[in-house]
Amino acid sequence: MTRTAAIIGAGVGGLSAALAVASRPGWEVVVIEAADSPGGKVGIASVDGVEFDTGPSLLTLPSIVEEVAGQAGFQLDEELTLFRPEPMGRYRFSDGTWFDVGPDRETTVRNIADGLGDGAARQFDEFMDYARRIWEAAAPHFVLGGSPTMGTALKLGLKGLKAFRAIDPMSTMLEAIETRVSDARIQSVLLRYATFNGSDPRRAPATLNCISWVDHGIGGWGVEGGMYRLVEVLEQLGKRVGARYVYDSAVTSIQPDGRRFRVRSQRCDLDDVHAVIVNADVRHLCDSLWEGGDDHGLSQDDELSTSGFTAVIRARRRSPKRRPAHEIVYERSDYLEEFADLFDRRRPPDEPTIYLCAREKAHRAEGWADEEPLFVMVNAPPMTAQTADVDWARLEADVVERLRRRELIDADDEVVWRRTPVELAKRFPGSRGSLYGAASNSRFSAFQRPANRVDGIDGMYLASGSAHPGGGVPLCIQSGRRAVVELTEDFEG
Ligand SMILES: Cc1cc2nc3c(=O)[nH]c(=O)nc-3n(C[C@H](O)[C@H](O)[C@H](O)COP(=O)(O)OP(=O)(O)OC[C@H]3O[C@@H](n4cnc5c(N)ncnc54)[C@H](O)[C@@H]3O)c2cc1C
Repeated sequence: MTRTAAIIGAGVGGLSAALAVASRPGWEVVVIEAADSPGGKVGIASVDGVEFDTGPSLLTLPSIVEEVAGQAGFQLDEELTLFRPEPMGRYRFSDGTWFDVGPDRETTVRNIADGLGDGAARQFDEFMDYARRIWEAAAPHFVLGGSPTMGTALKLGLKGLKAFRAIDPMSTMLEAIETRVSDARIQSVLLRYATFNGSDPRRAPATLNCISWVDHGIGGWGVEGGMYRLVEVLEQLGKRVGARYVYDSAVTSIQPDGRRFRVRSQRCDLDDVHAVIVNADVRHLCDSLWEGGDDHGLSQDDELSTSGFTAVIRARRRSPKRRPAHEIVYERSDYLEEFADLFDRRRPPDEPTIYLCAREKAHRAEGWADEEPLFVMVNAPPMTAQTADVDWARLEADVVERLRRRELIDADDEVVWRRTPVELAKRFPGSRGSLYGAASNSRFSAFQRPANRVDGIDGMYLASGSAHPGGGVPLCIQSGRRAVVELTEDFEG
């Protein structure tokens, strides 16, 4: 018997789910995507013949992608080249000091000692041990496994209790950092990891401190050709195992039909669908797609993760020494004020921390004859056309001026592409402009995130940044994979 799975959305969560189901015998898979190409937030744009990524800049936890490909019978390194740029990145502080991120923790610690002093280096190094312990305890039970519930933690017994203590959920990120680190610059480095899932370190559980280990201990990778290659590979592998992809076809409704579903979209209707995997934002599912009445508690009013103002500058090419793959430029010494702007005053930061990604160095992606695409991002609150009251042109001019003053770009380098949170909200329905779904601003966030299996709607699954285990490329890919684990249990026993 052949069963049909409909996947709503071709973001990385939908693509990974499609690959995972289509590689199982007995499933016909149709991915329906509103846009004219796959990738969702992992997007590309093109200016004067040069394509550049408009979304994520760094791939962490590539083992998750390797496993998704591996389970479908493919070897990722035959499809994609991952590499570690050298130097990886540079942190610049408002007092003029700086250090480079090395290819491994030891080199980074040495660089911190050279740039910021031995005390700062020791504090960073010791913090990495703490962050590593959290990751090792949290990853199997709360991140990579099924959606955690209080019941899961209890079922794990003593092991669960130990893991629960190791993940440090009762302190906030900020408290844990301030207890262990006194150097304000290293504090800024560590606090910034809250922004990796758009949260507020003053409230997010210290568990999220594990992200600094993921970045510095396990490491970040470049994807040869650009992050979008990852999207292309996931789609190509899906096609090789028989998944079908329909683009330019926004899904307009998902209707229950006995134990099956009917899916209606602009260019393709599906009847007798056994399983629906929703990669679109959960809020969009509840507000606009699901026609079965009760949404079984999915439409919670969660606090949203942050958004960003993003731009690409056509910048005169510089050597990797002068312009490394990634650069973080702290404009203020009191970095916490940035979070007060984002979460309390609900406005883009006054003196924003600026993130730069030189795409040629980060991903060996070719630029123009004399210039390279320099991706710029500053954090901003999630905003829609109804809620935004921001002069984006002024914000852009301010960021460019700051970069010129620091001589990070030349006087005639110019912005050739930009996207505001409002445009992001419009492009991704239900996201309300947030980059990573719900923020993790309470110690119970991991337990409140919608699970991959929708309880109460048999045959419906969620695979996206707005479901378990959360936002960011690897976790969304894992979300797709987990949704298929649940589907397999339900349909194949
Ligand atoms: C500027 C930026 C920088 C980022 N930086 C990083 C980073 O460095 N590292 C990192 O790990 N993550 C980063 N992220 C976050 C990461 O890109 C996202 O968490 C991830 O890509 C989201 O994937 P997803 O599976 O949730 O799907 P999404 O990307 O949200 O895609 C959902 C898809 O569903 C489609 N869809 C929605 N509604 C419908 C409908 N009705 N019918 C059909 N299709 C529909 C959409 O068109 C879209 O293609 C960044 C994101 C952005 C925007």
